[in-house]
Amino acid sequence: MRCPACGSELESMEVAGVAVDVCHGGCGGIWFDRYELQKFDEPQERDGEALLDVEVDRSLQVDQGQSRECPRCHGIIMMRHFFSARMAVEVDECPQCGGFWLDRGELAAIRALGTEEERREAAGRLFDELFGEELETMRRKDQERLAKARRVARILRFLCPSYYIPGKQDWGAF
Ligand SMILES: [Zn+2]
Ligand SMILES: [Zn+2]
Repeated sequence: MRCPACGSELESMEVAGVAVDVCHGGCGGIWFDRYELQKFDEPQERDGEALLDVEVDRSLQVDQGQSRECPRCHGIIMMRHFFSARMAVEVDECPQCGGFWLDRGELAAIRALGTEEERREAAGRLFDELFGEELETMRRKDQERLAKARRVARILRFLCPSYYIPGKQDWGAF
């Protein structure tokens, strides 16, 4: 399998029973098949430490702005997105096979974000910060709309009393 960042041949490296593909002696990036990254992405998962020190060729320049092809799926371009809501680390994910490509240093940065639980809490706080006000406005608007609907219903009932016989018309039971 070829490295999606620098084109070197990836080397399989076994860590805690998982075969991870590493750009050893190249750019130092790491390929994780689906579900593999989650075994190493939290700081208390000590096995992941073995992956923090991949030998690299420092003369190699890697263009992080370039879109990359999945090393497993031919012709599929990986999506670059933030790993967590804290928007600290960007990773490449294959939309087809669900694998992740991390450039050198990104695994360490992800582990520094804390445990999965801490990340989820941080995401919740961020969500509140970003959308809390908006959600409150939406709730208020819904209440207003509901009150308006009730008013309209009362007016209609008054205008067309003969139609307001609950149960007679399926639309009439306001
Ligand atoms: Zn590489
Ligand atoms: Zn893929």
